[in-house]
Amino acid sequence: MDVEANVEIIQRNINEACDISNRDTEEITIIGVTKYVTIERAQEAGQAGIINLAENRMEGLLEKKEQIANDQVTWHFIGTLQSRKVKNVVDSIDYLHSLDRLSLAKEIDKRSSKVLPCFIQVNVSGEDSKHGLAKDEVVEFVKALRDYSNIQVVGLMTMAPFIDDEKEIRAVFRQLRELRDTIQEKNWEHAPCRYLSMGMSHDYKIAIEEGATHIRIGSSLVGTSETR
Ligand SMILES: *Cc1c(COP(=O)(O)O)cnc(C)c1O
Repeated sequence: MDVEANVEIIQRNINEACDISNRDTEEITIIGVTKYVTIERAQEAGQAGIINLAENRMEGLLEKKEQIANDQVTWHFIGTLQSRKVKNVVDSIDYLHSLDRLSLAKEIDKRSSKVLPCFIQVNVSGEDSKHGLAKDEVVEFVKALRDYSNIQVVGLMTMAPFIDDEKEIRAVFRQLRELRDTIQEKNWEHAPCRYLSMGMSHDYKIAIEEGATHIRIGSSLVGTSETR
């Protein structure tokens, strides 16, 4: 399917989820995850109006960014970022979705030439395979980030377990929202924490119903290299 047709389907699903939860569709940002696909395919996403793109590896990010060379695109980094790679990517991204340790914050603070908007990655489900802070570590962590003036905590990010049980997925998203609310109530200047980066191809409708502001969609938007 061409990306434009996929965007239409996704947009329709967003509208439905917003109707159900009484939300405004304007609150939802679609981030196109291009990690599986070619530069040409990523460009199609841009032409279909998806101007937020994400990669999860440094190499992919730098390559896509250079080739696409479009100032209209906002670049998101959604993968684990090794501290030693920070200097190579930090000035090439607009948002980081995977801040999960102080050593990384320190390196970003040192290397970045601007204030970088960051999402804190939280491992709500507690699965061993997932990165991110445990839920009960998050508030202290965010508080400690005030020492790093190049870091702005704009929100929280999580990945739900890859399962069919909708109730369990929903519970994960809901817990992230509650945690977001807790941090927001602190009114910390360095952590407005308004956003929720949650929801992928198989669960973004549930995520929107539970408050997602940024959904990260790969396979159902641009496909994977195998499926096209
Ligand atoms: C790959 C990836 C996505 C997109 O996954 P799809 O299921 O293909 O939509 C979203 N978020 C993160 C962190 C990813 O690594």
